[in-house]
Amino acid sequence: PGPQLPHDPSKKTLVICGSGWGATSLLNSLDTEDYNVIVVSPKNYFLFTPLLPSVAVGTLNPRSIIQPTRYVTRHKKRQVTVIEASATDVDPVAKTVTFADTSEIQGAVSNTTIPFDYLVFAVGAEVQTFNIPGVREHACFMKELEDAEKMQRHFMDCLESAAFPGQTPEEIRRLLHMVVVGGGPTGVELSGELHDFLEEDLRSWYPELSESVRITLVEALPSVLPMFSKQLIDYTESTFKEAKIDILTKTMVKEVKEKSVVLQMPDKSIVEVPCGLVVWAAGNTLRKVTRDLMAKFPQEQTNRRGITVDECLRMVGANGNIFAIGDCTATSYAPTAQVASQEGAYLARVLQQIAKKDELEARLKALQTAPEAEVQEERAHVEKRLAKLEKIRPFKYSHQGSLAYIGSDRAIADLPFFNGNLATGGVATFLFWRSAYLTTLFSLRNRTLVATDWIKVKLFGRDVSRE
Ligand code: FAD
Ligand code: NAD
Repeated sequence: PGPQLPHDPSKKTLVICGSGWGATSLLNSLDTEDYNVIVVSPKNYFLFTPLLPSVAVGTLNPRSIIQPTRYVTRHKKRQVTVIEASATDVDPVAKTVTFADTSEIQGAVSNTTIPFDYLVFAVGAEVQTFNIPGVREHACFMKELEDAEKMQRHFMDCLESAAFPGQTPEEIRRLLHMVVVGGGPTGVELSGELHDFLEEDLRSWYPELSESVRITLVEALPSVLPMFSKQLIDYTESTFKEAKIDILTKTMVKEVKEKSVVLQMPDKSIVEVPCGLVVWAAGNTLRKVTRDLMAKFPQEQTNRRGITVDECLRMVGANGNIFAIGDCTATSYAPTAQVASQEGAYLARVLQQIAKKDELEARLKALQTAPEAEVQEERAHVEKRLAKLEKIRPFKYSHQGSLAYIGSDRAIADLPFFNGNLATGGVATFLFWRSAYLTTLFSLRNRTLVATDWIKVKLFGRDVSRE
């Protein structure tokens, strides 16, 4: 590709907050010739979340599932500015975004405010802890890349401490008891991956410990994976039973301590269970910046699940210049990567239409000062084109199915086919899961890295060294 076009002062400024599923899908499809684009995100990369649990057990290298945002922007027609910072405030009246460099190293300037003409708010969500005591202090999360890396370190530490000479059998059992909280897809996939590690690697690397390992999945609702069909829930539960993963349903974690979890059992009794590792996968909640932005529209933004948007993904109440996509919004769709990426791609088309409209409106304004007779024909032509662009086609989500890995080389899939549903589980579905994720990975580079990691693990096993 030739040199990129520089920012053009005659073009409008589009600020995109976030570099996750929604923002990256938007950037991939956006025609940057139409705007001066600025991306603000505390991570200067895109994270392929579906494969995060594989990083946590060392199946995949952390670098294999991230893609620097500049890999996308450097191929765009016009330069895109990428800023590694967290948005801290949006002023919808002044049309500005304030952001801060929240990383370890900061320069003399680490906080600034920039104006926008259009803003795409795609900051995702954060982990829901329900303010349950001890969760932040003692549990690992499974949301960001560093969470998976932390979990892997912690998990390997439990194994090495259990292998320490003279450890009592009781302490070995505690250290090797892994508790996963939350029976949504994140908790289920992580339990499956943990089981694979224990089954495939622990037996050869730590044979003396393998019999003492236990995995418990705790879920407050009556079943795991409520978004999947009954048949697939049963299949998952029986696979877990074979894999010796204990599922405790109707059980609520009330507290996480340094060496145990406190559970409220179905009969409401309280039990304290010793464990070495707790992974918290209990769902999402809004980020502070999102709550603060919503609070600026107290009449219109009252949904506690997230930003209310109209059918074209414009934030309700915000005069049409703020769009919101993905996990920070409250829509009728689930907070998934599939939804966020379709919203991002849709918004790229909408923004292109808006750019055309803005250009024609500016032309019409310019024509107003010209003598009527000379511009009559052009004005009629511009008005006609404008009328065509007036209506924006609403966002329509197309569900491609739900897919989850459940360990033991098995996956489950609810696929919408022929107006019905195909519910499938097993090894063939696992191969489908792998190929579906490989093709969804945004770049050839990531596909190659992930496929190579899978082959490496098959040949040499997982790396058990602790960084
Ligand atoms: P995100 O992808 O979370 O992106 C948010 C972005 O905003 C990030 O780049 C973040 O760094 C940035 N950001 C954060 N704070 C700020 C700030 N203050 N200012 C600016 N930027 C900010 N969904 C599926 O459909 N299929 C799956 O298989 C699947 N697997 C998953 C596995 C795991 C372990 C997890 C955690 C989630 C999974 N999901 C899956 C859900 C999916 O990842 C989310 O629905 C999706 O990431 C939402 O996209 P988003 O763009 O709204 O948010
Ligand atoms: P989730 O909200 O789907 O599940 C969290 C679970 O934790 C809930 O079932 C909840 O009842 C339980 N829980 C909450 N507090 C608890 C407590 N104190 N004790 C015991 N259980 C408790 O969260 P998730 O699994 O992280 O998924 C988030 C979103 O990401 C969902 O929309 C999901 O569909 C999507 N996702 C999809 C995939 C996939 O398709 N393969 C994988 C991961 C995530």
